[in-house]
Amino acid sequence: MVKLIHHLLPVSKLFFKSSYKLPPLTRARTFSQFYTTTMSVNLQTHAFAGNPLRSKAGDPKAALESLKTRISDSGAALSPNLKVLPFRNGKPLASSTGKLGWIGLEDLKGMLVGADLSGDSFVYLGSRADRDDDDDDAYWAVDVSGWERASVLVPERLCFVELRTLMVATDWVDSAAMGNLAIAGHARALLEWHNLSRFCGHCGEKTVPMEAGRRKECSNESCKKRIYPRIDPVVIMLVIDRENDRALLSKQSRFVPRMWSCLAGFIEPGESLEEAVRRETWEETGIEVGEVVYHSSQPWPVGPNSMPCQLMVGFFAYAKSLEINVDKEELEDARWHSREDVRKALTFAEYKKAQKTAAAKVEQMCKGVEKTHSLTTDFNVESGELAPMFVPGPFAIAHHLISSWAFPDQNVNGVECHSKHPSGSVSNL
Ligand SMILES: [Zn+2]
Repeated sequence: MVKLIHHLLPVSKLFFKSSYKLPPLTRARTFSQFYTTTMSVNLQTHAFAGNPLRSKAGDPKAALESLKTRISDSGAALSPNLKVLPFRNGKPLASSTGKLGWIGLEDLKGMLVGADLSGDSFVYLGSRADRDDDDDDAYWAVDVSGWERASVLVPERLCFVELRTLMVATDWVDSAAMGNLAIAGHARALLEWHNLSRFCGHCGEKTVPMEAGRRKECSNESCKKRIYPRIDPVVIMLVIDRENDRALLSKQSRFVPRMWSCLAGFIEPGESLEEAVRRETWEETGIEVGEVVYHSSQPWPVGPNSMPCQLMVGFFAYAKSLEINVDKEELEDARWHSREDVRKALTFAEYKKAQKTAAAKVEQMCKGVEKTHSLTTDFNVESGELAPMFVPGPFAIAHHLISSWAFPDQNVNGVECHSKHPSGSVSNL
């Protein structure tokens, strides 16, 4: 089985020399904690979770009818409350400040020169859940990849940006920005799913979108199979040696040098999540796992294109055996790391600086300074002392699994740490 751990990759070379320290992100932390420990990001939700749009608000069918009317009746006064987020090749439109590039329908028409817009090209995202005064707001996403590039006129100061880049650029303490990231993730997952489900898996006929893009249906009258977005769960686990106070971290050859992270893998048919955690750990490292404790989960719309609706399900996995036998086809290396070393890894990682650097890149792209953006080429490790290792950034659940074990007294992500006294959803199966 190929184990895809794409979500552990995006930080790339986003980490620099070790002298920079983050400002305290939680008020509860003392000055001494700040300098003796490291960062611990208290997110209310993981990146891509906490979508502020109410996708079930209103009637999607009525919203679609309204949209179609407005598309066909170009002379009518268009509602300012209809907002569209265009995507091209999986990239959302964004502004130079890293905000999503919401545009009105008229602007979209002006952007897609000669395009024959159809309501079926749109997916309904919902309306705002955090405001009461604009219930009529309707948020939509549309994939404009089908139009030739020459006919897509991108408004000034806007550009299509990789969602991964936006993810790194988003300030995780800015709840509004994190909400927008979640909206973009939801939209991308839906649009990519539409791309992947053009034909019925039962009879092979074309599918058509239903309920404003929330599901699809086979166009064959004798089939009419209903098709819903399929969520692909991935288990991701921090394997812990409780007796010696160590955690198992691994690295893959495609990781940037010095980056270590959790094990992860797909679930096989007929397997529970706990069984998948134990099997994957055994296959990749030869370590037997006993207790498996649920930590939290994260929608992951930036995985491989073939799986736009991944759900990362995070666990602490307590080792029963300690000898490591690395499967070299899957991993480059796997080692036990002391809690102290893991804390240092979190100390060295300059997540805030990486975020600001990525945000500056988005700004440059949207201002036309840079046409493309590559995380692997644009972020170079600066000279100076290099951290011996680092772990993925706060946008990845791996970061929170690792940091909540490393700092068990801090309540990271609103999730109790079970590293010493597991309770609750413990499985001993
Ligand atoms: Zn069919």
